[in-house]
Amino acid sequence: MSILAFWVLFLAFVGAFALQVATRVRLIAAAPNTFSVDHFPFRIKRFLLDVVLQRRTIRERPVAGLMHALVFWGFVAFGGYTSIEFMSGLAIVDLTRTPWFYGYRVALTPFAAAVLVGIVYLLIRRAFVRPIGLGDHVSIESIIIALFIVTLMTTFLLTFRLEEGTLTERINWWTHMMVILAFMALIPASKHFHLVLSPVTVLLKSPELGNLPNLDFEKEQVGLETVKDLGSKMRLDAFTCVECGRCQVNCPAWGAGKELNPKAIILQTKDALLAGTIERKLGEVYSEKVLWQCTTCGACENQCPVGIEHLPILIGARRGLVSNGDAPAYLGAMYNNLERRSNIWGLGYDQRTKFVQSAGLETFDPAKHDVLVWLGCAGSFDADFQKSLRSLFAILRAKAVRFGVLAKERCNGDPAKRTGNEYMFQELANGNIEDLRAAGVKKILTSCPHCVKTIGADYAKFGYQVEIVHSSVFVEELLRRDGASTGDGVGAPRDIVTFHDPCYLGRYAGTVDEPRDLLTRFGADIREPERNRDNPYCCGAGGGLLFADKEEEPGSRISDVRFNQLQATGANTVVTACPFCSIMLKGAQASAQADTQFVDLMTFVNGKLTKANA
Ligand code: SF4
Ligand code: SF4
Repeated sequence: MSILAFWVLFLAFVGAFALQVATRVRLIAAAPNTFSVDHFPFRIKRFLLDVVLQRRTIRERPVAGLMHALVFWGFVAFGGYTSIEFMSGLAIVDLTRTPWFYGYRVALTPFAAAVLVGIVYLLIRRAFVRPIGLGDHVSIESIIIALFIVTLMTTFLLTFRLEEGTLTERINWWTHMMVILAFMALIPASKHFHLVLSPVTVLLKSPELGNLPNLDFEKEQVGLETVKDLGSKMRLDAFTCVECGRCQVNCPAWGAGKELNPKAIILQTKDALLAGTIERKLGEVYSEKVLWQCTTCGACENQCPVGIEHLPILIGARRGLVSNGDAPAYLGAMYNNLERRSNIWGLGYDQRTKFVQSAGLETFDPAKHDVLVWLGCAGSFDADFQKSLRSLFAILRAKAVRFGVLAKERCNGDPAKRTGNEYMFQELANGNIEDLRAAGVKKILTSCPHCVKTIGADYAKFGYQVEIVHSSVFVEELLRRDGASTGDGVGAPRDIVTFHDPCYLGRYAGTVDEPRDLLTRFGADIREPERNRDNPYCCGAGGGLLFADKEEEPGSRISDVRFNQLQATGANTVVTACPFCSIMLKGAQASAQADTQFVDLMTFVNGKLTKANA
């Protein structure tokens, strides 16, 4: 009788689980396929680190992350126990009386204790501490799930104290099994569905941060316009979100008081999918205004512990808006500049030529030169950044590096790509690729982190593979080999500086040590700011926001928030390594009327080298 009752309950709860899962699977299966398993060894390695070892979960929130890891590892360890108990309860096969099963149960006791510690900590944190990223209301569902887990572990531990076949033992067994069934029926509609989906989502996450596959215009692809256009990985992401708020608290736009909240973007995607309103415009689902507030800094998807990618959604929706002529006016002006003059400021090409001549630069020739220096829009036209490039050229010449530049460059296309103007990006990219190929370039050196990402990763999607390095990496290696230093002895006064990691260098390229190695090699004492290395706080320039009308921005300016963080280090000198960070942060400094000094990394290094050699 009890076996029959258990079968009925089992089928009812598993049925409820399966129905909910089927709805979500149908929605994912109906989407344009955006799943990929390229670079499989890399994906497996990341899976082991982020799922099995819970690296990303622990990294940002070490205590809460470790507690979560204890619960996760406990769940994995209990998998076999739960299956065996179910098979026994359903009278399929009874392995519960074997000696090895007893040994397995004993081995599970430390796991049960660890799960209890972890879940009680997380319960207190969620119910009473309530960090801002978890939302402003206590989630009843989370409390129920946490109490379920406490019950599961307690009933498991009680099995060692209760005599088999007694009424208490039976009640204990039924409680344990019913909680598992109820848990199962509850999870698909809750954020705990990540228990099932996150291993798959992590495995399917692109190896490239901010991966934006090219649109194929021959297939009339125009980007994401409606809910129907959301790809399969985007839909999987929406159902995987665990609502931890890591993306939210790391988002510079949200941090500066703007409406954009990457967590809300994912949850709105989920709601729109489940509502079945597939023809609804994404500009309405998220609001157009919010979509233009993203700097594309990548913090959200880099911090997400369950493999969610926000940028394909945000930029995909921007592409949809641009294709309908719905880009903001400031972007219209920038696109116009790119179209007419192939640079973001719309300046005449003679200005680049003047700089090239005055800096004594040769046109690249593979027979004469080892490396091509890519100037970028800032290097070609921004007088301030040209000082930095002159420093780079001086270092290269001092170390006998043979380098040249292209006779003509277009913008690499980053501002068009990240703002969703894919057509313009492809025009610029294809033109540059043609010129780079024709020039026989094998290695590119640039001081612009956006050029590193775009030429290195986005151009590769056209089949153009080239080695591209940021000047900090190139010069650090050059000077390390050479053993160059200030020549000052031990105890010499050190410059107190802070280094602002550009998002496209620290986070996207993972270049965090080389700039610091250069600074310390040349006598700097680095005061690290809040948010640094591979999780910097953005300067606010990316994603086309360099061109936005600052007076119309809601909340604070992202650059002001970052400038305050840099000032709080107490260092009077800020070292930068990206032309756009430099422009934004100097703007913030001017508004704050602060006397902070800015120096570009190459200028700092060259100044020290020149002094040491004098
Ligand atoms: S990319 Fe950066 S600015 Fe954009 S949503 Fe993510 S964290 Fe926010
Ligand atoms: S998208 Fe990722 S980081 Fe953001 S709330 Fe969801 S699970 Fe957390």
